[in-house]
Amino acid sequence: MASALSDKLAKIVKEMRGQARITESNVQDMLREVRMALLEADVALPVVREFIARVKEKALGQDVVGSLKPGQTLVSIVNKELAAIMGEGQAELNLNVQPPAIILMAGLQGAGKTTTTAKIAKLLREKLKKKVLTVSGDVYRPAAIEQLKTVTAQAGAEWFPSTPDQKPLDIATAALDYAKKHYFDVLIVDTAGRLAIDEVLMNEIRELHSTLQPAETLFVVDAMQGQDAINTARAFKEALPLTGIVLTKLDGDSRGGAALSVKHITGAPIKFAGVSEKIDGIEIFDAERHAGRILGMGDIVALVEQVTSGVDLQAAQKLAEKVKSGDSFDLNDFLMQLQQMKQMGGLSSLLDKLPGELAAKAGQMDMDRAEKDIRRKEGIICSMTALERKKPELIKAQRKKRIAAGAGVQVQEVNRLLNEFNQMQGMMKKMKGAGMMKMLRKLGG
Ligand code: GDP
Repeated sequence: MASALSDKLAKIVKEMRGQARITESNVQDMLREVRMALLEADVALPVVREFIARVKEKALGQDVVGSLKPGQTLVSIVNKELAAIMGEGQAELNLNVQPPAIILMAGLQGAGKTTTTAKIAKLLREKLKKKVLTVSGDVYRPAAIEQLKTVTAQAGAEWFPSTPDQKPLDIATAALDYAKKHYFDVLIVDTAGRLAIDEVLMNEIRELHSTLQPAETLFVVDAMQGQDAINTARAFKEALPLTGIVLTKLDGDSRGGAALSVKHITGAPIKFAGVSEKIDGIEIFDAERHAGRILGMGDIVALVEQVTSGVDLQAAQKLAEKVKSGDSFDLNDFLMQLQQMKQMGGLSSLLDKLPGELAAKAGQMDMDRAEKDIRRKEGIICSMTALERKKPELIKAQRKKRIAAGAGVQVQEVNRLLNEFNQMQGMMKKMKGAGMMKMLRKLGG
């Protein structure tokens, strides 16, 4: 990953200490770095050009605010401007129509349409209590129809059968009839994608659109697609009135510059971000966080939020009180800590939210193993009796053997866990309860 833009700008800024304004002469160098950062993030060239011109206009003559240096001021302008462009428009799904509200999924093959169909179905079902039906119009790939069936079941929604000998339009209208008869709130129509844009495909989806008159027409695009995203987006925009964009595979290495290009070309709001292959790997798109990612500044906001929401504040508070009141820290508390770590939404999903340098370091660790390790430790503690958890000093050879057998691990692992617990207990004794609460409040704020 390219070194952070802010570092590069800091270097330039060093050379022009004492300047209190962004001027024509100092802005050039800085904008060159911004331009590089955007290109490295795979924002399409014409979009970069227009963006730079816009930023330059905003930045020129701007006073350097407070303690910020010109470089930082510029980064902040760039950041805000990026977020403003990507965040324009109504980001929520518009389903306020006579039910069933239809969502039409468009995009190239492999973009993530089928996966996203199921993710949205699950989201609507769970968050908005909607009754959701899905149907596949991909008559060219029987496997795609089967795939939709499988993921729809995972989403707990209903799937409408279709076969390769049918016409996509007939399938869609049959599904719509069924949805009306059975009082579905939402019908999501997954469509065939090709490896590249072609006229037959575009005509087909155009026809589907004019017949179905969907409430939402979502363009699904792979964030890893990079520079090509602009051409795909243009073709789909010309064919269909898009109402939203779903940017998938943001869990990959890409800096997600496609977001800017696609937004620029289609003008449609980016509604969702796909962040894993799993069915709940979908998030409401957050333009500000994404701006940070494009610029390579790391997704600190997201990280902090994820950490705070993952920690059970009440349980942590109890623990802090316990430390404060002088009660001893036992294996039950240790177990609670492990469980909190697990709740932080999977260690690996935190990884890509870290700024470059930290992410590189963390990348050397095997996150899957770390998660398995937590589960194993939980298993060991759960094989202990209530008394053993309260008084770990009772755990001698015989008990260790029994616990290991119960958890399906070697005795050494039980020893390792007890050592770790002892260290933690030592730390807890030193820690002042008040200090811990302060830390928690910081996280919560
Ligand atoms: P479609 O051809 O557009 O329907 O694409 P699919 O839904 O079949 O997705 C293509 C591949 O991308 C599959 O292997 C998916 O598991 C994967 N995929 C889809 N969305 C995401 C995402 O947000 N993150 C990751 N890592 N993989 C994704």
